[in-house]
Amino acid sequence: MSTARSDKTLLFLEDDRDLQALVCTFLRDRGYQVTPARTADEAREVLRSRPVDAAIVDGLLPGMTGADFIRELRKTKPDLPVLFASAFWKDLKSHELLTRQLGVARVVHKPYRPEELAVWLEQLFAVARPPPPPQEALEADAPAPADDFAASLALLSADYGAKLPERLATLQALLGKGRHGDAAALDEAYNAVHKLHGTAGSYGFRDVSIAAGALEDALRPVKAGGALDWARVDAGFRALEDRVSLPVLTPEPEPEEAVVSAMGTLLVVDEDAAVLADARQMGEREGVRVVTAATPQEACAAAERQWVDGALLHMGPAGLATASALRAMEGHQSLPLAFSSSGGGLQERVHAAHAGASLFLPRPFTQQDFATAAERLVATRRLERAKVMVVDDDPEAVRALSQVLVSDAVEVVGLENAYGLLDALAQHRPDLLLLDVQMPGPSGFDLCRILRLTPEWQDLPILLITAQVGLEFRLAAFQAGADDYLAKPVLKEELRARVHARLERARLSRERTERDALTGLMLRRPFVEAVGTRLSEARRSDKPLALCFLDVDHFKKVNDQHGHLAGDRVLMRLGRLLGARFRREDLRARWGGEEFVVALLGESAESAKDILSRTAEELAAMSFEGDAGETFHVTFSAGLAVAPRDGTTLDELLRAADARLYRAKENGRNRIETE
Ligand code: GH3
Ligand code: MG
Ligand code: MG
Repeated sequence: MSTARSDKTLLFLEDDRDLQALVCTFLRDRGYQVTPARTADEAREVLRSRPVDAAIVDGLLPGMTGADFIRELRKTKPDLPVLFASAFWKDLKSHELLTRQLGVARVVHKPYRPEELAVWLEQLFAVARPPPPPQEALEADAPAPADDFAASLALLSADYGAKLPERLATLQALLGKGRHGDAAALDEAYNAVHKLHGTAGSYGFRDVSIAAGALEDALRPVKAGGALDWARVDAGFRALEDRVSLPVLTPEPEPEEAVVSAMGTLLVVDEDAAVLADARQMGEREGVRVVTAATPQEACAAAERQWVDGALLHMGPAGLATASALRAMEGHQSLPLAFSSSGGGLQERVHAAHAGASLFLPRPFTQQDFATAAERLVATRRLERAKVMVVDDDPEAVRALSQVLVSDAVEVVGLENAYGLLDALAQHRPDLLLLDVQMPGPSGFDLCRILRLTPEWQDLPILLITAQVGLEFRLAAFQAGADDYLAKPVLKEELRARVHARLERARLSRERTERDALTGLMLRRPFVEAVGTRLSEARRSDKPLALCFLDVDHFKKVNDQHGHLAGDRVLMRLGRLLGARFRREDLRARWGGEEFVVALLGESAESAKDILSRTAEELAAMSFEGDAGETFHVTFSAGLAVAPRDGTTLDELLRAADARLYRAKENGRNRIETE
């Protein structure tokens, strides 16, 4: 690629002498005939006096903008390929104006490297492709079956495979017409082969993709205006045909994957076998996968074996034990929980809320209760899934990539129109972006650069995908600010591995900035931000919000008598306790030192006090070991304030809670003050 020689003639309109010299030298070295111009007048003269194959136009010229110059140029040369290089015009709106209205083939952002210009020129003359024909857009509307992703991927692959012979027949007909001089048919044939090359591999038909790539090479003169070597084209077509007409056309075997259910997986734990049997039936009717267990041990084993979105437990000592056992498991700290109970008195609800229940169901529960619970629990858990946005103008590629990536832990949003990217980002807020490089309109490079200039998306992990594998493309990708780079045909395992690695790194860096390392709880700043939202929610829904300050009693003495490390262990275990109890939507943070803060939505002063008393009891029951092996115990004091009774702003609530905490200390410690 980098050694490709070209005999194309270029007009290079650029008023900066140094840049012009550099680029001219570079492009001439690549075999281009470059005619420089430094003003619009000079450029007009060049265009009048000789034919050019393409023009490179600077964004700002002496006396006029590059856009104005192109507008004028279009009157006489509507089809001349133009590259537009500019330090301005870096937003999507300008991009749309330039590419759609002025027919600019590529917008190159300054400062650029000459290699990048070479990349786009090469593409312009070799693989430029028109916007996808309309029937492609129609195919995009076919919804992907969503009930079982692994199965639907197999189905889609089979479907794609089944359509291949038909596609080949169409291709053969187009080539036949092309052989007899039909240029439009040849062009269409080229585009079809190019797509096959880029997409078949993603569906698992790697051999087809490779054969299509060879045929694409043989057809490339179609785009460059040269003569075709028909013997080579025929051989390429036959090789492709061989791959497609193999007796059993199946995609490569997929590695074993956990079953993913669109409606989610619910763990139902109950000592009553009849309740479990009912739940399984209800699950079947709702399309929810139900996993059952009779004991806390069985429940943990089940959660260990597979992903569960939430657990439905029987209220009572066994249910509460199950709740804390599940939440003690790695990665399950905030597992959404629901309890069923035939009683449902205040005391039970307090226990359930403290254990982390988001929902309280009657017992026996009806189909409707079950459906509501499943939906709520799964919806909560799904908020934790990482979101990947895939941008590709080829709907088939979007679908294929999505199918590879989607899983319990990853949700995928597809986008075919790159012009809508900024809106789509604002709407979906993905954790990672996968961009096709070659698209009509803004390229993956352009989009990448635009995002790197947008403060909000500066740190968004971006992976580029392209059919080009040359060093220059890789350089251009990193230059544009991409984090990683993949070549088509994309290997599923590689794609998954790279995406997961990026997502994991992004998650870790978020944790580092938002979580306290010792206790695993939120830090003060994110807590303050989040509690603001909870407060407006409480106001809107007319619910109370309880805010509580916790402070470990005589903690200085703990450090002095038992050692600083033992003190750290106390903070860590109290942090874990706060993290594992309560509902997912309740906020818990380490305020600083040995002070913690908790916000409970929808709880009154009385119920919040009851819930926190349980935490106090649990902490008091814990034994700690000091430096010398001695055993000791700790307690905390707390001050509680409730909106709207004690104030409506965070500031007012914090002040009230702090004053009460002070009083709790004065009144002898190990107590919670609410007045
Ligand atoms: P009171 O019951 O009135 O709250 O007494 P106290 O000793 O707990 O209160 P004080 O605020 O005077 O002391 C808090 C101590 O907590 C002082 C500080 O050294 C210790 N501390 C703060 N952060 C940490 C930490 O991360 N680890 C350890 N081990 N100690 C900490
Ligand atoms: Mg203190
Ligand atoms: Mg203290």
